[in-house]
Amino acid sequence: MQDMRQGFLVRVPGRHRAVGPAGSFWSRAGLPLRQGAAVLALVAVAVSVWLWEVRPFDSRHGLGVDAPSAGIGAAHAPLGAPPSMPGGHGGYTFMRMQGNGADPVAYDPCRPIHFTTSTVGLPPGGDALVREAVATMSQASGLQFVDDGLTDEPPVPERDPYQPDRYGDRWAPVYIAFATPGQIPRLAGSTVGLGGSTPRAADDGVLVYVTGSVWLDAAAMDDLLAAGRRDSARAVVEHEIGHVLGLDHVSDATQLMSETGGTGAGPSDGDRRGLAVLGRGVCRPDL
Ligand SMILES: [Zn+2]
Repeated sequence: MQDMRQGFLVRVPGRHRAVGPAGSFWSRAGLPLRQGAAVLALVAVAVSVWLWEVRPFDSRHGLGVDAPSAGIGAAHAPLGAPPSMPGGHGGYTFMRMQGNGADPVAYDPCRPIHFTTSTVGLPPGGDALVREAVATMSQASGLQFVDDGLTDEPPVPERDPYQPDRYGDRWAPVYIAFATPGQIPRLAGSTVGLGGSTPRAADDGVLVYVTGSVWLDAAAMDDLLAAGRRDSARAVVEHEIGHVLGLDHVSDATQLMSETGGTGAGPSDGDRRGLAVLGRGVCRPDL
């Protein structure tokens, strides 16, 4: 049970392309088509996005039901320091805004974001790839991560954000898995990755992300790694972690969070500005 908005990446011939959560179908429909194969790919994308868009992922079901003790692992001040806003060009958008319409939903900067990588489907070197991507996104946001190591938790579409039997009295760590469409149906077709987080509401209505998931298409990632495109594979993970932290897509193709997945060089200036904002979320020990 979870309330999770997700963004996701899909492949088109010769590159990977990002597709966003609800609403992005229409922006995608205007993308230039360079070849017949791309037309077929776009049709496939449209189908997969449509299937995704009919999902009621904003239903908020499960909110406020089972939860760990409040304030687990919370410090009195932010653990890290988000970098100052970089210059350059490029914008950013957020996955979800607070009720005031001005501030994005983010993680609590006063506690570390625990993450765990599933041994199910994990390719050789996959955990190292994940750690590198996490380190990059941590540095860019100032948010501190703790590597909880490997888990045998299998990938399932509706992950419970609170699993005391497996993880104890705390929110389940952010979960990263190399999965198959058989396990995660939304990876079907040309989707390379999915990423998003689950918010919980404090008594005053402020939303704070408490955990999230990244699902990487195991076969697609294997293809990238086998082709020597490790930078591209890492960029896929970084892009999905960008969704986990709260970034949505932008139209600027030079950004990691673009619909074309960026350049493989990690976060660009717009991405970094957005991540710096997300690193300045509110500390909520009451959650
Ligand atoms: Zn995406």
